Amino acid sequence: MIDKLVKAVALDGQVRVSAVDATGVVREAQTKHDTWSASSAALGRTLVGTLLLGSDIKDDARISVQISGDGPAGKIITAVDGEGHVKGYVQNPHVSLAPNEKGKIDVRGAVGTNGVFKVTKDLGLKEPFSGQVPIVSGEIAEDFTYYLAYSEQTPSAVALGVLVDTDETIINAGGWMLQLMPGATEETIVAVEKAIADIPQVTQLLSEGDTPSDMINRLFGEDNVKFLDERDVAFQCDCSKERFAAGLATLHGDEITAMIEEDGGAEIVCQFCNNHYHFSADDLREIHAHASK
Ligand SMILES: [Zn+2]
Repeated sequence: MIDKLVKAVALDGQVRVSAVDATGVVREAQTKHDTWSASSAALGRTLVGTLLLGSDIKDDARISVQISGDGPAGKIITAVDGEGHVKGYVQNPHVSLAPNEKGKIDVRGAVGTNGVFKVTKDLGLKEPFSGQVPIVSGEIAEDFTYYLAYSEQTPSAVALGVLVDTDETIINAGGWMLQLMPGATEETIVAVEKAIADIPQVTQLLSEGDTPSDMINRLFGEDNVKFLDERDVAFQCDCSKERFAAGLATLHGDEITAMIEEDGGAEIVCQFCNNHYHFSADDLREIHAHASK
């Protein structure tokens, strides 16, 4: 299945909105990292939020999100590029908790409520932009909203959802994000507040068969939406054996020698996608020979 992210403007261009069905993305993440329900929902929501945050970036630009809370899931790190490729991991994939008071997956319990929510944007300018705010919720959508309001001064609303089956597989995942443009009228603000209050949860919409465009139409009404762009998104890591070899080349000769003598090679695992790369003793000797020239 191919996941889609749709961008639009609404209410006479006073609101920008993006919506995504990221079911395939979160399924891939769940499979690669063997995440359990609370870790799946925490990582999945962060992946969806990262995709939405990256809906405007181009080509080789890149945005990464790092959530460092005090909950059992540990750090969550994600990154998206301008082609809609997103990757990410959660430090502890095996977190499964009792449901919260609403009967839902306890994402806050997994993430924690103390810590830092950090975004780094490398938009191809001289310096990457980086902004951080304290974690205010731990449910993640509210944390994206808070980040946008306080770090980027953009009044926003974000909804993120991941529905996990009893066997840990992902039923669906997606979200939407809207931002008020400067100069939005009082009438628009009232309409947006009503739209946010009225729209059902993302996972319910996806279960009913809504596409990202349907979600946007539900928020504002078909006549008030102008669709701008649609892109494919996917969980895809940019790691390679060459890239890890370049990393190994920066190690001290002693460290490489130790890997050869003690382990007969090296096994490197990409944190983002869990791919394993094997370097034989010969591979390591060659890397070392090149590096020491
Ligand atoms: Zn990787």
